[in-house]
Amino acid sequence: MIMDNFDSPFLYDRPEVNVDSLKKTIVYKLIFLIGRSPKEASQRDWLNATLYAVRDFVTEGWITTAREARAEDSRRVYYLSMEFLIGRTLSNAMIAEGLYDIAKEALSELNVDLEEIIEKEVDPGLGNGGLGRLAACFMDSIATLGLPGMGYGIRYEYGMFRQKIEDGQQVERPDAWLEKGAPWEFIRPSKRFTVSFGGNIHFEGKKCIWNKGEEVTALAYDQVIPGYKNDSAATLRLWSAHAGELFNLEDFNRGQHIAAVESRASIKNLSRVLYPDDSTWNGRELRLRQEYFLVSASLQDIIRRHKRTHDSMENLADKVAIHLNDTHPALAIPELMRILIDEEGFEWQKAWDMTRRIFSYTCHTLMSEALETWPVEMMAKILPRHLQMIFEINDHFLEYVKTYITTDVDFIRRVSLVEEGYQRKVRMGWLSVVGSHKVNGVAAIHSDLMVTSTFSDFARIYPERFTNVTNGITPRRWLAVANPQLASLFDKYIGSDWRCDLSQIEKLKQYAHEADFKHAIADIKFANKVKLANYVKKTLNIDLDPHALFDVQVKRIHEYKRQILNVLHIIARYNAMLEHPEKDWQPRVFILAGKAASAYYAAKQTIHLINDVANVINNDGRLGGRLKVVFIPNYSVSLAQLIIPAADISEQISLAGTEASGTSNMKFALNGALTLGTLDGANVEILENVGKDHIFIFGNTVEQVEKLRRDGYCPFNFYQEDVELRNVVDQIINGRFSENDPNRYQQLLQGLQYHDFYQAFADFRSYVDAQKLVDEKYKNRDAWIDSTIQNIVNMGYFSSDRTIKEYAENIWHIEPLNLEK
Ligand SMILES: *Cc1c(COP(=O)(O)O)cnc(C)c1O
Repeated sequence: MIMDNFDSPFLYDRPEVNVDSLKKTIVYKLIFLIGRSPKEASQRDWLNATLYAVRDFVTEGWITTAREARAEDSRRVYYLSMEFLIGRTLSNAMIAEGLYDIAKEALSELNVDLEEIIEKEVDPGLGNGGLGRLAACFMDSIATLGLPGMGYGIRYEYGMFRQKIEDGQQVERPDAWLEKGAPWEFIRPSKRFTVSFGGNIHFEGKKCIWNKGEEVTALAYDQVIPGYKNDSAATLRLWSAHAGELFNLEDFNRGQHIAAVESRASIKNLSRVLYPDDSTWNGRELRLRQEYFLVSASLQDIIRRHKRTHDSMENLADKVAIHLNDTHPALAIPELMRILIDEEGFEWQKAWDMTRRIFSYTCHTLMSEALETWPVEMMAKILPRHLQMIFEINDHFLEYVKTYITTDVDFIRRVSLVEEGYQRKVRMGWLSVVGSHKVNGVAAIHSDLMVTSTFSDFARIYPERFTNVTNGITPRRWLAVANPQLASLFDKYIGSDWRCDLSQIEKLKQYAHEADFKHAIADIKFANKVKLANYVKKTLNIDLDPHALFDVQVKRIHEYKRQILNVLHIIARYNAMLEHPEKDWQPRVFILAGKAASAYYAAKQTIHLINDVANVINNDGRLGGRLKVVFIPNYSVSLAQLIIPAADISEQISLAGTEASGTSNMKFALNGALTLGTLDGANVEILENVGKDHIFIFGNTVEQVEKLRRDGYCPFNFYQEDVELRNVVDQIINGRFSENDPNRYQQLLQGLQYHDFYQAFADFRSYVDAQKLVDEKYKNRDAWIDSTIQNIVNMGYFSSDRTIKEYAENIWHIEPLNLEK
């Protein structure tokens, strides 16, 4: 019905949502958008039709939110990230719009099973792991809190590779997530920008002129991020590279048409594929181009938006906050300086003041192998003007240091944005600190270490700049979507407000000792374990006993995360069980999953070892099925949603001082798993919140780790002195688990014996002891359920809503939109 009130954004009444109307909408989408009749529609057709139908509901709120943000014209935040690991959209959107049950019924009347088509949705892998997933949780919270802000990323044609396991080894397969259609995204043909690379620079007086070399077109695709039941939605804008008018201008002008077009192929590659490296840095030229591609397109879009409503750039810093998720988008700092000075005619100091008010930066690591530095030569070739700008920023910065801090040459050399030496390099971390008004770590311990180690010199120069914002996770996806039974149990006891105010979850404390409540919690955990066991049976043909203790470590495979320590304990347990088969062993299932970067040899060997060990143990009849080991291939957000609610134990066993925060530790605890962890990252704060009786802490502290390293850590001594450890190591080295290739793990294990950079041997004994306590506690079902409940009810702090509120208040200085109207 056409409404006469044209102030309303919509020319029709919002349709009443009921089973009948939704059913009609889905069929309509099926016929007119997909071009299929209900008779011949496949499961995927139904999925896509449902996605389109649900998207309609989100879209209304999305348009209103955008309109309101324009109207209020308050400061907005732009979250720049090379990765967004958003996961599947359908369930999350249905829950946000309150459509789940209605859709389920509508589809069932059409003879379609909602749960089945949900499993058909592709899971876009546009991120590696924690960093990308954090960005996705943040978008969810920005939308739910109704904050003015949006995300910018890259629409990789191929996301994270699909992992297959063949003969126990990881095999990478391309993830062509777009091939099945992407009904959730909106293409924005009018939002296209030219991104330039290469060429050369020269000066005209003081003015720097950049003669650009090649050009690429960036085209916008929008993902709509629904807020939870608030009629609001945020935008995640992803850039796709297109050849457009792409050719090398210089070649073209010289009449070399073929050469000019040849570069087409390579530049289309810009958004072709995500770099599959996590927590390690890969200094490849294509990656540098990708980073600038994101930065350049996003800044052009931000400035276009500003100019649409303002006739001056003077107030840009009042209206715009830009957040750098790690240093990957740090080129935005020199890029904004270049725009302000070269294109907008600002004076240096004015431009610099604006830039620093606009930017803030999150540091995600302390490990030197993860810190980005770009060779000066490479940057000179690809981004000559930006390199020049970084030199200028450095000159000003070092002048400041010499004037106000110290003239000590060593200090100056350490803090310089350009690392001198055989190959000069630009330090992106340093650039991010200097160009931002706030720099935050992601957990209390990490932020403390940040100012005493990596950025200690900068903490002396800018003490007020450093702060902490402990990570969080969205309770919508990680409880409501991932664990619907538990979610509705909580709704029944305390109402559903916890979904957008997780601190409410502590209201469950009053029921913690009620038998009904405890039984319900235990039953739901069991049901989730059955569900996972069914998946493992179906995909891997391994039988798991859901009564066994499910001990889970799922995350990227990395030496610092120490999956190897997990394996050492599994083998030690196996040996002990064989030695005393008559003992009353607590049945256990060890579940591991995670991808290894394709060039990371030690990580790939670790996967191979896990599978070799699993193969021996799972086929050893002497154990009576009391020990199982499973490696579940192709870890992803959707697998995390299946695995995490089924866990009894959450393995968070990184070497103290290496895991910046971790976020799976929060997902597990919220779903009632007990953490077995080191005093690292957010484990420390989880301990503070749940209390020491409900968590298993083991291993050396950061101080002990550092002392051991200073004193000359000698893993071989631990190997010699601990018989159990020695037996395990000898077995692996001697090919006990790889009889067809006995030398397979020699290199890996000798690396541990003689270097063991992440001190797995030093923590082995304490880990094995802690595992014994886990067994004991699990035998006391009542005590275990008590601890499960204490974990859940004390997780209020770890909502990404709390995290985002802290960013909004203390770093971005933005306020929620007034969406009540
Ligand atoms: C949460 C999550 C991560 C991060 O896990 P950590 O254990 O914190 O490293 C990685 N990958 C996926 C798919 C996740 O959901």
